[in-house]
Amino acid sequence: MAHELNRPDPAFAVRRNVNLETDEIWQARVDLAACLRTAARHGLEEGICNHFSAVVPGHPDLFLVNRLGYAFEEASASNLLICDFDGNVLSGDGEPEATAFYIHARLHRMSPRVGAAFHTHMPNATALSMLEGEPLVWAGQTALKFYGRTVVDEDYNGLALDEREGDRIAAVLGDNDILFMKNHGVMVCAANIAEAWDDLYYLERAAEVQLKAMSTGRPLLPVKPEVAAAAARQMRDGDPESARLHLESIKRVLDRKDPDYKL
Ligand SMILES: [Zn+2]
Repeated sequence: MAHELNRPDPAFAVRRNVNLETDEIWQARVDLAACLRTAARHGLEEGICNHFSAVVPGHPDLFLVNRLGYAFEEASASNLLICDFDGNVLSGDGEPEATAFYIHARLHRMSPRVGAAFHTHMPNATALSMLEGEPLVWAGQTALKFYGRTVVDEDYNGLALDEREGDRIAAVLGDNDILFMKNHGVMVCAANIAEAWDDLYYLERAAEVQLKAMSTGRPLLPVKPEVAAAAARQMRDGDPESARLHLESIKRVLDRKDPDYKL
């Protein structure tokens, strides 16, 4: 299902005189590779079809993304690509997957607040995107992390193989952080890599436990809206620091079990 990006003749690629070898950019590469590897460990990715992107530190017009044809578990700091919004690859071998480019380039261009955008077909959240109505029910504490932050793209249009589909998806996202793409999957958007990872992980957990509750056939018991809103505020207050710690934790685990992510 992965598609090649038919970008303009590479001879016309703009090779700007920018230094993409800074410590800060390398750290972003390590962090994004850690998220990709850990997503694979949890089964959140689907084959070679999903993509994580992050704005390059110091370069709001460039983004890091995993390369076409590589599974998440193959990602490493050095094999991620740096692309511009026109589809030129400024650093790295290979190309981005076509839908990765069209969706993520337009998201980062249209929504500068989105520092990281993680797209997966992770099974539990995707299952909820295949049901009629709102995907999440505010019946579990983990789900409340996303209270008031989700939006649903109701118009599945096939594969996003041109900029118009990327623009449409960015417009549907608006000021929200979590986009349920009906009949497709999810896009998690956050200020930075740590917060995108934190949201992606807990979104799948919230979806998993909701499906488990639904599978009993008994009615779900939503939390009262005022309590849900208050709990969501409590969680959001602590989220930036919690997300930072979560990212440090997954890197320690990888350092022990899968250390070549940072090569
Ligand atoms: Zn997809």
